[in-house]
Amino acid sequence: MKLEKVRNIGISAHIDSGKTTLSERILFYAGRIHKIEDVRGGGDGATMDHMELEKERGITITSAATSLEWKGYKVNLIDTPGHVDFTVEVERSLRVLDGAVLVLCSVGGVQSQSITVDRQMKRYQVPRVAFINKMDRTGANPFRVVEQLRDKLGAEAFLMQYPIGAEDKFEGVVDLIEMKSYRFSGDEGQNVDVGEVPADLLEKCQAQRIHMLEQLSMYNDEMMELLLSEEEVPLEMIYKVTRDAVLGGATPVYMGSAFKNKGVQPLLDAVNRYLPSPLDREIRGVDPKDETKKIELKPDPDAPFVGMAFKIVDDEFGQLTFMRIYQGTIEKAGTYVNQRTGRKERFSQIVRMHSDKREKVDSACAGDIVAVTGIDSASGDTYGIERDQCTLESMFVPDPVIKIA
Ligand code: GDP
Repeated sequence: MKLEKVRNIGISAHIDSGKTTLSERILFYAGRIHKIEDVRGGGDGATMDHMELEKERGITITSAATSLEWKGYKVNLIDTPGHVDFTVEVERSLRVLDGAVLVLCSVGGVQSQSITVDRQMKRYQVPRVAFINKMDRTGANPFRVVEQLRDKLGAEAFLMQYPIGAEDKFEGVVDLIEMKSYRFSGDEGQNVDVGEVPADLLEKCQAQRIHMLEQLSMYNDEMMELLLSEEEVPLEMIYKVTRDAVLGGATPVYMGSAFKNKGVQPLLDAVNRYLPSPLDREIRGVDPKDETKKIELKPDPDAPFVGMAFKIVDDEFGQLTFMRIYQGTIEKAGTYVNQRTGRKERFSQIVRMHSDKREKVDSACAGDIVAVTGIDSASGDTYGIERDQCTLESMFVPDPVIKIA
């Protein structure tokens, strides 16, 4: 698959805002789990107690990385640990992302933990979109959450959608770019009905659309001129400018209810459309022999391999090392050099994780995230093709630069 169509993303959230539920839905809509009951623990009876259920979900959902496909894009969903401490673990997981979805609760809004998560994302310049979840709850107020994103986080946040119905009558959203309504039906929200904007919302949606365009036009002069002269802004331009805005640090805001199966598909469309691909990020490592020397890494499959082990997991099959490949290609049974120890190690198997299934692959290349077996690494280790080639861990002094096209 072409690198422009790869998304390495994390879902980052305040605890309890619905990250797990949203991840389940994403896997469900991408066809990775076939019934939401599969993870809930069976539709026919509440035989699973809370702990078992959590364990089951844990296995299915919180794999360090899981791959799925959405409308021709490959999305690697990377688990970003929920704990707030400024730990190396969190840092590493943020390090391997190209983009993120920030999940907020429609009632709780921005809370202290969101502020910490936000600070970490900023440190690593992780472009993101926000998702206001739990729109079905009493007291849900997406407008207030957007205000909080602006006031408390200093985010350039603006709504891309307008809610249809409120609280337990929440039905769906109006897409403010195309001015169409999206309503979700079916037990699992699998039916998406696209239609006209409801007449009673038309004026509000138009006003909100202008606000959105004004925010976006900060990132594009041509668009600002069109707005000033009250001319129609072409849809293609809005899409392009939104993408540039995201890469430039803006936070477009989506909404829905993961639990009620509403709003997840448009969020996935936004991930495809706006979050960066591995090609949009510049990654630099350092020369192990001279820490002041930077090495620019290109997501080029033919360049010498450089990758980083970001998470080590033990399971019944042994140790799995999750790795982001920044440059080059790795082959099954190939030997590569651990830059920390200087030792050559054999990558016995390369596997791609799909929810709870593993797919063995023969090779994997730059931009990808896979798990490798047979190696004895520590989290944070860099691998390459020869000794003293490149180290990535010290790039934790954030150096990734986002290019704006
Ligand atoms: P996490 O801690 O962020 O992973 O949150 P969970 O996904 O475990 O959700 C926390 C609680 O919120 C659970 O009881 C969910 O059922 C509930 N929840 C998740 N999404 C929604 C939603 O859209 N609406 C409502 N009302 N509850 C939700």
